[in-house]
Amino acid sequence: MAFFKKMNLDDSSDKKSEKKESKDREKIKVLIIGSGPAGYTAGIYASRANLSPVLYQGMEAGGQLTTTTEVENFPGYPQGVTGPLMMEDLKAQAERFGTDIRFGEITSVDFSKKPYILTVDEEDEIEAETVIIATGATAKYLGLESEQRLRGGGVSACATCDGFFFKNKVVAVVGGGDSAIEEAEYLASLTKKVYMIVRKPFFRASKVMQTRALSNPKIEVLFKHTTKEVLGEHNVTGVLLTKNIGTETEEDVTIKVDGFFLGIGHTPNSGIFKSYIDTDETGFIKTIGKSSKTNIEGIFACGDVQDSIYKQAITAAGSGCMAALDTEKYLASL
Ligand code: NDP
Repeated sequence: MAFFKKMNLDDSSDKKSEKKESKDREKIKVLIIGSGPAGYTAGIYASRANLSPVLYQGMEAGGQLTTTTEVENFPGYPQGVTGPLMMEDLKAQAERFGTDIRFGEITSVDFSKKPYILTVDEEDEIEAETVIIATGATAKYLGLESEQRLRGGGVSACATCDGFFFKNKVVAVVGGGDSAIEEAEYLASLTKKVYMIVRKPFFRASKVMQTRALSNPKIEVLFKHTTKEVLGEHNVTGVLLTKNIGTETEEDVTIKVDGFFLGIGHTPNSGIFKSYIDTDETGFIKTIGKSSKTNIEGIFACGDVQDSIYKQAITAAGSGCMAALDTEKYLASL
């Protein structure tokens, strides 16, 4: 989810002179940033609590789910639902209770004092008493043209979401970290065979995960292989790999697969908050204990931007609910 075009934390003196006086800024009680399951669920709860939330959708309205096809694991849809339709449903539900949903992207923030000042589309400044950050994360892709073309045609960055469609088929997972091994293990439970494509001669993953991958008879690890192209016109049919790249024994190898899964990590969309909000080394926002509270009073985080473990639509929605309830409690305490 590319929510933020530019990290714009330094105020040049020119910009400062353009800054609005506080009296000219719109005042918002609860500002929600992001329009995935976490943001919309926060909107549903905050509007039902009469907190008049305003939600900025960001660059990719609906978030990561708008790029998936069928969602079959979100409770309440026994026949499954497409990602875009589910996001329309969540949006309509948030709007029904009065969430003010707006186009626009928050491009910079000033959380140094209350009320918090946020800039929309690098232009309009608004003031917020509380902020719910639900900006999500972006799955990393290799950047190949063929990979982008075949997204939805067998290329996926979410084994839990799409693995089911490859029952008894052959798939490949690229990556050598814990995420890739988790995906490979999950896929091995459904499919006939899983190739792991690892660019180095060793895994980056923890020892325990490595052992699990290497001892799984359905997983074949291809160390020292890099992906050159994903093959197929409309659906994935194979992967063209380069073995021992940059050495005398370099050669191209083709494997036949029906699915190609990315397991090379996610980037949390936390860039513009990092000067103020505590994150871990990868950029995931740290929340306090079992709450959605960040290190700054009145600023809460939910969904994939603070979740390096579960990364599911349903867990994101649950944490959006938590953020709205924490916000309500905070406002009541003032
Ligand atoms: P990591 O950054 O740990 O691993 C990414 C992997 O993808 C590495 O093997 C890396 O290769 C590879 N990679 C990156 N870019 C490319 C590329 N362009 N081409 C080919 N391969 C590439 O990310 P993870 O998402 O796996 O993990 C993130 C964090 O979350 C880690 O701290 C991990 O421990 C944790 N985690 C823990 C889990 C658990 O405990 N069950 C489950 C999932 C995540 P290289 O090594 O060569 O750089």
